[in-house]
Amino acid sequence: MNDSYESFAEKAQEKKLFDYVPLLIVISAPSGTGKTTLCDRLLQEDDNIIYSISCTTRKPRGAEEDGVDYFFVAEDQFKESVARGDFLEYAVVHGNYYGTLASTIRQALNSGKHILLDIDVQGAGQIREGLALLDDSDPIRQGFLDIFVAPPSLEVLRNRLEGRAEDSADVIDQRMINAEQEMLRADEYEYQVVNDDLDQAFQRLSQVVKKESEIYE
Ligand code: ADP
Ligand code: 5GP
Repeated sequence: MNDSYESFAEKAQEKKLFDYVPLLIVISAPSGTGKTTLCDRLLQEDDNIIYSISCTTRKPRGAEEDGVDYFFVAEDQFKESVARGDFLEYAVVHGNYYGTLASTIRQALNSGKHILLDIDVQGAGQIREGLALLDDSDPIRQGFLDIFVAPPSLEVLRNRLEGRAEDSADVIDQRMINAEQEMLRADEYEYQVVNDDLDQAFQRLSQVVKKESEIYE
């Protein structure tokens, strides 16, 4: 047990640390669904939510910045982190490694922040499976919330990917194949939000976060 967890557990036992549950909000969606759009809005509208910056071995795209969008690392550096046990979860997605640093998550939850993870279905599954091994009072177990954002249809998804105009036709075809696989795992998530009308999807997402952060005595 590390120091930060010990102090959280002690304070949580005193039951006067926070009057809400700091959430570990896992959001997954097929590429092009609108997850980034929804997550950005959530982060803009709620100062109490921070974004979990993942490590990745993929190269920066466009205006992406190291330490803001991702921590861009070399593959050997990523593997050293794996060996040290730094990651809460990690996976290979579209041929690159991606991982969530456990320290980022614990620091956020211990300071009373909700932390938002934009991760794929494999990573979400790893965290979910690991929950049973954690103590009941562990902030990760207490705060875990998983949401799958789905497109209204595969046809709409393709239109959004084409409309975003960021990817070549080959990449879009590959993303569509991946999307069908990812959609098969939507039921593993406690909540599913369909991103048809953006405002409605955002309202639903906000409601879920609000409801799950309330403490029921
Ligand atoms: P993701 O992060 O899931 O890959 P983005 O947030 O980049 O997806 O959204 C993909 C495209 O779809 C963007 O051009 C975005 O503006 C658009 N989009 C997102 N949500 C909606 C929506 N509800 N209706 C129509 N277009 C949307
Ligand atoms: P992109 O390279 O387009 O930013 O992200 C590709 C995919 O990797 C997305 O589905 C995104 O959710 C996922 N991803 C980003 N960070 C992580 C992470 O830390 N862990 C896992 N498992 N997936 C991640």
